Amino acid sequence: MNPQDKRHRSGAHIWQSAKFRILLVGVFLAAFLAVIVFVQLPANAPAPAPAAGGTGETGTVDQQQEPSPTVAVVKKVMVDFHMQDLQHGWIKYTDSAAATEDGGANWLDMAPEQMEQLAADGSWQLEMADWFQAVEPPRTVSFQAKEFEVKKAQFLTDRIGWALVSHADHPEGSLLVTTDGGATWVDGAKPEGAAPEIAAQLQAESQRIDDMKREAAYYSAEGTAKEAIRSDWTLLPAAAAPGDVVLVRHKEAGEVVWEGKTYTLKPFGSGYFTYVPISMSAKPGQYPIGDQLLTIKEKKFETQYLKVTKQMESMKQETDKINADQKKIDLARSSSAPEFLFSEPFIQPIEGILTTPFGYTRYVNGKLDSSHRAIDLAAKEGTPIKATNDGIVALAELLYLTGNAIYLDHGMGLFSQYAHLSELKVKPGDKVKKGDIIGLVGTTGFSTGPHLHFTFWAHNVPVNPNLFFDSSPFLWLLKRSS
Ligand SMILES: [Zn+2]
Repeated sequence: MNPQDKRHRSGAHIWQSAKFRILLVGVFLAAFLAVIVFVQLPANAPAPAPAAGGTGETGTVDQQQEPSPTVAVVKKVMVDFHMQDLQHGWIKYTDSAAATEDGGANWLDMAPEQMEQLAADGSWQLEMADWFQAVEPPRTVSFQAKEFEVKKAQFLTDRIGWALVSHADHPEGSLLVTTDGGATWVDGAKPEGAAPEIAAQLQAESQRIDDMKREAAYYSAEGTAKEAIRSDWTLLPAAAAPGDVVLVRHKEAGEVVWEGKTYTLKPFGSGYFTYVPISMSAKPGQYPIGDQLLTIKEKKFETQYLKVTKQMESMKQETDKINADQKKIDLARSSSAPEFLFSEPFIQPIEGILTTPFGYTRYVNGKLDSSHRAIDLAAKEGTPIKATNDGIVALAELLYLTGNAIYLDHGMGLFSQYAHLSELKVKPGDKVKKGDIIGLVGTTGFSTGPHLHFTFWAHNVPVNPNLFFDSSPFLWLLKRSS
């Protein structure tokens, strides 16, 4: 090869290199442009992001208004709901679901699998739901000054109800809740939670259900308990005789006026109660108490003639001693526990032989004495005496006429009395259980021989003890038609 050739060749090589350089420059240019584009992109990018920034500049405020219409478009539409009890429930939306465990104070998003489980559980009902008077679900409800159409309503009790409603202006639907049986409605699924007063009302309703359960245990059967609890007024029993006592139940606080005396209904369980003693002189007939009629049946009381020594007869003339004792007795019976202290039927305190039945008109040595509003059970001296039921000892003391005497408070104004004991086994304030030995049979005080003088007092009126044996005032409901 010659040098020219070499040059030529090298010349040709140079040309080729120049071409390559242009290519290189092109590549560089392209790369440079790409870098510019990349660098500039983030500078243009902030457009979708300012919502997170929120600096308050006029520019960003304009930009912030942009995304909100897209949020409104995906507003969730309620399609179904179910409350399982006062606290638990769920809402189904077109494409999601939420659940509450606190009566609507908070609604938390649920996973779809959870949702399916709950839907399958939808038949579950509030315990004792049928103990409440049924509420007819409304077809429309008034809410925020508009009439909303009810798509689904569910009343858990006679007071607490939920309703899925919608309005032409609110096609997405609302879940409303009432705590007054449907008179007024409030939003039960607000994002910020239900109003605090709703939570308080639901709590009160839970308490009411517990109170109902507590009260129901006192009746003979679920059916009678349900009947009493659902009623406005209940007489236990609806028919009585002179000398008996009736327990009156009302669903609200109030008073009962009977034979000129006013008795205040006291709260217990889910109702209000008072004992109403029927006087020995009550005339047969029907008398209204609340929305009920109390039937007073005819009853004849026998006469008993008692012969006592002159010395015993003179005991009744010691009026100072008798009056002093009466003050003690009145004081002991002046206050009673504000609840029924027993839960089971009463028992007869001793077996004994009935020597004087309840209500006998008594003549002592030929003179009219009084009607014997107790039973006398003769038994051997020292026979153990059982407490007729649970109670608190109100008085246990040696008194002039009744001898060693005990009064047990059974609550709500009812006392049992035990007289002429040889020995007292309890002292005032002692809590006793049904069947506890409280004393021994004797013949202390105005007594002709060892026996137990036993009776009940309701609001300071002696009442027939036979009603209580193997029974209790709540079980008297069964005697409705007798
Ligand atoms: Zn007696």
